[in-house]
Amino acid sequence: AKTPVTVTVTGAAGNIGYALLFRIASGGLLGQDVPVRLNLLEIPQAVKAAEGTAMELNDSAFPLLESVNVYDDANKAFAGTSVGLLVGARPRTKGMERADLLEANGGIFGPQGKAINDNAADDVKVLVVGNPANTNAVIAMQSAPDVPNDRFNAMMRLDHNRAIAQLAAKTGSAVADIKKMLVWGNHSADQYPDVSYATVAGKPAPELVDSEWLDSYFVPTVAKRGAAIIEARGASSAASAASSAIDHVYNWVNGTTEGDWVTGGVYSDGSHYGVPEGLIFGLPVTSKGGSWDVVDGLEISAATQAGIDHNIKAAQEELDAVRALGLI
Ligand code: NDP
Repeated sequence: AKTPVTVTVTGAAGNIGYALLFRIASGGLLGQDVPVRLNLLEIPQAVKAAEGTAMELNDSAFPLLESVNVYDDANKAFAGTSVGLLVGARPRTKGMERADLLEANGGIFGPQGKAINDNAADDVKVLVVGNPANTNAVIAMQSAPDVPNDRFNAMMRLDHNRAIAQLAAKTGSAVADIKKMLVWGNHSADQYPDVSYATVAGKPAPELVDSEWLDSYFVPTVAKRGAAIIEARGASSAASAASSAIDHVYNWVNGTTEGDWVTGGVYSDGSHYGVPEGLIFGLPVTSKGGSWDVVDGLEISAATQAGIDHNIKAAQEELDAVRALGLI
């Protein structure tokens, strides 16, 4: 059998955590031959609830699940971690200013980044799910100077998967027939879902759908899908977010499919599509041997460039606010 891998999930007692942990324990995150040690991190008030989830994980008797431990101390929770899923975050509540939201999250992702820096395994990979995910990922990355920057990702995969689902429905095709979908930028209303390079059963997507549908239906539907789920379900999306986090890490660790790419919120070194160095940004990526490669050389239309630029500006403004607060 392979060596067990330690996986840490923060916000483990939350909605996404509840959907995520059982998929990890059943082998969906790393593979059906990889034993997992699960570390659950929660704030003290939620430790009891996380212990309840741990009891259910044990009761499920997953053959791959070696151990489950619950912590309220990040240094302990990240000891020896190879995969960190940073889900717990301070949600925006009514009347909350952006500065308050960023400050609260800086107080979470800064210390967690440091705990990862000081305690995690050398091969640690971190996916930030908690919002504002792209900015929280930068805060964690900046707080972990000994960990390579490209080990910090933000989740764009749910946006990517939502975009695939919409295009499949519109074209009456199977999701498996859709390749090279892309959502540039941030996991926020600013994101730019882009079918320019997508194919549907080998045919270029732009030949199958008109620009009126793209601009007035596809882009806003994908970007505002979270609100539509809340409206319909009476609670925010959780299982789809968990499923997409699984997809992201699975591809990061085990590689992407030949002839396709995925959208990853990955570290920008400044050499791709004008995205400045230091942002964590939705880009087309392939993975091999446990690390991402940005797909370069795509032809960028004026509309796509405008979408990218809009996201760069939004990401920079948020980071400027974080810097002004002294959080990085
Ligand atoms: P969820 O589990 O539903 O969501 C957690 C985070 O994921 C939120 O920031 C949420 O953003 C974000 N998210 C990203 N993508 C999506 C998506 N597509 N749909 C929905 N959410 C998305 O939140 P809960 O309130 O149920 O649980 C949070 C848990 O985190 C609580 O148990 C809390 O105690 C814990 N927590 C733990 C911390 C720690 O471990 N140190 C720190 C802070 C909180 P959004 O708010 O925008 O929906």
